[in-house]
Amino acid sequence: GCPGRLPELKGNIRVLCRLRPGTSSSLVSVEPGPGGTVTTCYRGRHRRFRLDWVFPPDASQEEHLSVPGLQQAWLATIPRTCRPFLGSRLVSQVFRELEPAVLSCLRGYSVCIFTYGQTGTGKTYSMEGPPEDPGIVPRALQSLFREMGAGRQHRVTLSMVEIYNEAVRDLLAPGPPERLAVRQGPEGQGGIQVAGLTHWDVPNLETLHQMLKLGRSNRATAATAMNQRSSRSHALVTLTLRAASPPRAPGTAGTLHLVDLAGSERARKAGAAGPPRGDPDGARRLREAQTINRSLLALGGVMAALRAHRPHVPFRDSQLTRLLQPALGPGTTAVLLLQISTRPEDLGETVCSLKFADRVG
Ligand code: ADP
Ligand code: MG
Repeated sequence: GCPGRLPELKGNIRVLCRLRPGTSSSLVSVEPGPGGTVTTCYRGRHRRFRLDWVFPPDASQEEHLSVPGLQQAWLATIPRTCRPFLGSRLVSQVFRELEPAVLSCLRGYSVCIFTYGQTGTGKTYSMEGPPEDPGIVPRALQSLFREMGAGRQHRVTLSMVEIYNEAVRDLLAPGPPERLAVRQGPEGQGGIQVAGLTHWDVPNLETLHQMLKLGRSNRATAATAMNQRSSRSHALVTLTLRAASPPRAPGTAGTLHLVDLAGSERARKAGAAGPPRGDPDGARRLREAQTINRSLLALGGVMAALRAHRPHVPFRDSQLTRLLQPALGPGTTAVLLLQISTRPEDLGETVCSLKFADRVG
């Protein structure tokens, strides 16, 4: 493959790290690019973390050239195969690095892309992005549909769930959202079943965008009622792509999971010392923080066990890991996009996030 590209994604967990733009400090320094590092100085201790790729704060969603005076439009005229030769002048390729993995779903692979990090570090920005600068999800979908349009017919199905306080809800249910039961699938298949979860046939890209918008608004409705609930829940979008037309019989389905994880900030900050007096929401927020911590810890445990090829992988430790079991098992690709802040006051959280990445990657 091209130098400077994420090589051989299949069967691996890749950890990419993106720094949020904004206040920076000398306490967090980076060497961007493939095999890049983040160095932190926290409580007088220096730590250096190596990642599969580090995107600096000025990274864009796709790519741009850092050559003063050069029009970005020129980049489009440069053939892809020549791009590696642009070297460090080609900054920031958040989506470019993910595109090969995304497209492998059309060949029957299972790919899972997560964003992990403290609330406010840019998880949603990277995943969704503003309309003028779309993020991973819209780019991935566009890329998939472009590729499908060029070749064999695929049948695309979509499901979308939220996990809040260990309760699984269907964000695309036609009726009022109810708590769904997660069960172990038939023996030997290693899968799970979510009873009553709706799977929607998606005929085209436009419909898909509309459905995702609906799902997001169902998540957001709860957020206004329950105080920023959207950052306190995990949202999982699952696309299944099944080759539908001859000459080959409908074969193995490829799957793309896009996961916007709840904010990883530790419970202490959210009030682990007990709810402050006069804060009626305190107890609820404490419980939220504790369940999120437990489920992210379970995710870390599962990924670490998979990485070490341990015989027992503790998928059952949380609803998140149970639902992701088919997405993380053997032969799948997982990409964890770690979002971190460079603000001095966030340093503790930044170090925690990097430690998480170290454990799983
Ligand atoms: P999270 O989902 O992790 O809580 P958000 O994606 O909502 O964080 O980001 C928090 C704020 O920071 C938003 O206002 C967002 O627009 C802004 N932001 C995050 N990353 C970037 C970026 N790379 N460029 C510009 N703005 C960003
Ligand atoms: Mg968010």
